[in-house]
Amino acid sequence: MEIINTKEIVKKYGFKFTKSLGQNFLMDNEVLKDIVEGAEVSKEDFVIEIGPGVGTLTRKLLNAAKSVCAIELDSDLLPILEQELKDYDNFMLVHKDALKVDFNEITAREKSVKLVANLPYYVTTPIISKLLTGGYVFKSLTIMIQKEVAERIAAKPNCKEYGALSLLVQYYCDTKIIRKVSPESFIPRPKVESIVIRLDRLSEPRVKVKSEKLFFTIIRNAFNMRRKTLWNALKQLKLSKENLENAFLAAEIDPKRRGETLSIEEFGKLSDNIYDIINQ
Ligand code: SAM
Repeated sequence: MEIINTKEIVKKYGFKFTKSLGQNFLMDNEVLKDIVEGAEVSKEDFVIEIGPGVGTLTRKLLNAAKSVCAIELDSDLLPILEQELKDYDNFMLVHKDALKVDFNEITAREKSVKLVANLPYYVTTPIISKLLTGGYVFKSLTIMIQKEVAERIAAKPNCKEYGALSLLVQYYCDTKIIRKVSPESFIPRPKVESIVIRLDRLSEPRVKVKSEKLFFTIIRNAFNMRRKTLWNALKQLKLSKENLENAFLAAEIDPKRRGETLSIEEFGKLSDNIYDIINQ
């Protein structure tokens, strides 16, 4: 097996880590192998990697994929990546903030697109949200994230981790935990435990709703005030008392329940009944 020494590359170029960019580089070959295998990357796949660092994971992806496009914000890393990966003609590097990238421009004409990344943790949620709601063609996202965020993503109703993020991700994807990763696998060590999770895009969203905007507004309201009943949380929608009552009745949902007890299907039903009342 090819052994890549992240520490040596960092030392060779005198690279200085920037904490605010979430720079914790992987140096554990087992973890790298599990990420690439867990993502099921093959020579058919065009892979996008957000935040290649010094190219440790990128190299493994380049060996497994048809091609890899890496998006890196830190200009100090560009010459290192160009030098270290110069032998790969299937490598592309984009110097940009991943939050500002139009992924459709990069993936045009590609049939099988997968995203694989050890994400910078300070932007995990906005990146996931962008990747899922931006209308992109990713088949799957295999991402390393903080353990707590992975638990929130995969959570089911009636547990404290269940919330707006669980519902956003599960609306679009099936989720699969690939493995846990301890801080010792990184340089420098992060303060938190990590998890590699794969999100497989569903061909259709998990529930069919009349208005996605309303569906997610209701979810946000329900979890902004976690301890409140749905009745109190959804007063924010400014419907009349009678209309709100009728929507709960039609959806067969007790307004005294709290948001954390509702399944995604129940949120869909409630949202559609509120939609009908608003638009009647
Ligand atoms: N992939 C490498 C690895 O596994 O060793 C590095 C992962 S490190 C956790 C996160 C990487 O994302 C760093 O290279 C950092 O510079 C980069 N980064 C941080 N913010 C970014 C952003 N907004 N857009 C693109 N890259 C970003």
